Amino acid sequence: MIFTDVVIVGGGPAGSTAAWKLKEAGRDVLILDKADFPRLKLCAGWITLRTLKRLEISETAYPHGIVKFRTLYFHIHGLPFPVPTRQFSIRRTEFDHWLLNRAEVPVQQHVAQRIERQGEGFVIDGKFRCNWLVGAGGTGCPVYRTFFREICPREGEKQIVSMELEFQVAMSTTHCHLWFFQHGLPGYAWYVPKKGGWLNIGIGGKQTSMVKKGADIREHWRRFVGFLLKKKLLASPPPTPGACSYYLRQNGPVQDGCAIIVGDAAGLATLDMGEGIGPAIESGLLAADAILHNTTASFDSIPHYSLSGILFPWKH
Ligand SMILES: Cc1cc2nc3c(=O)[nH]c(=O)nc-3n(C[C@H](O)[C@H](O)[C@H](O)COP(=O)(O)OP(=O)(O)OC[C@H]3O[C@@H](n4cnc5c(N)ncnc54)[C@H](O)[C@@H]3O)c2cc1C
Repeated sequence: MIFTDVVIVGGGPAGSTAAWKLKEAGRDVLILDKADFPRLKLCAGWITLRTLKRLEISETAYPHGIVKFRTLYFHIHGLPFPVPTRQFSIRRTEFDHWLLNRAEVPVQQHVAQRIERQGEGFVIDGKFRCNWLVGAGGTGCPVYRTFFREICPREGEKQIVSMELEFQVAMSTTHCHLWFFQHGLPGYAWYVPKKGGWLNIGIGGKQTSMVKKGADIREHWRRFVGFLLKKKLLASPPPTPGACSYYLRQNGPVQDGCAIIVGDAAGLATLDMGEGIGPAIESGLLAADAILHNTTASFDSIPHYSLSGILFPWKH
């Protein structure tokens, strides 16, 4: 049995950020992740100025590819709205690996499954024992499943389903586009250029609204790709996309004794844009703070909406 003060299940932005701050304060931390990093994570990779600030890094100090957008091109029901701002795009495979390495804590590749309370602490799969347990395993987090599903059930209305693809393109493009409610999509479609000729395209929308309309995310994807080809934003049909789902912000308990859930495990993505990286990072910081000061974690200070951060990025 391996004993560590804090075990964090999941080494994504939420888990690695909590680990970074706990390690900095001298705590003994172990991250368990089912994936071997660098790992693929379906995500457009749009991050805000606020997120970089919380990570205590400037865009010039970030060691991998980062693109700065001074304008986001919003399209609402077909009408274009260029919005002056200061936002960024990164590649998740690089960003998450960099965050994990920066935490400088041991990482063990392990699929956490059976989690039990033992006295004041926890035992994971009969192999790992800890005083504090942080659930940072994303939407399917086993810590959420074990301790929080009953006390903090997920709201079906908040479920987002998405299809997404990141691939290299020959054409050079630097404009970031977002199309809201296009072709009846109850959400938005995106076109996010990255450094090195990478491009991320995707669509996301509320599952319940799609079901009500008898719509299918794959049909929305076909329409979106047809639209990009017609507008010459794509030169040829793209490869096959991936699909996944996550939950928008909901309010509920995020701590049960010495177990805390963070990031997508807690359902923290913003209600307007589904921004989840920033909230994951902020919840990791707040969870670390609660552990260090033996207080109860609260994520009330994490914004529920992204729009204000897009319109007034310097204020955040
Ligand atoms: C298509 C799509 C596009 C998105 N675009 C954006 C965007 O542009 N900007 C933005 O801010 N947000 C975006 N989001 C949301 C964002 O990706 C998430 O909110 C964010 O990744 C949450 O971080 P996390 O650390 O909580 O979880 P994750 O990044 O999902 O990390 C969870 C980790 O836990 C591990 N894990 C899971 N189960 C286990 C287990 N049983 N045992 C061990 N390890 C486990 C996984 O391997 C993973 O590494 C998008 C989401 C989707 C689906």
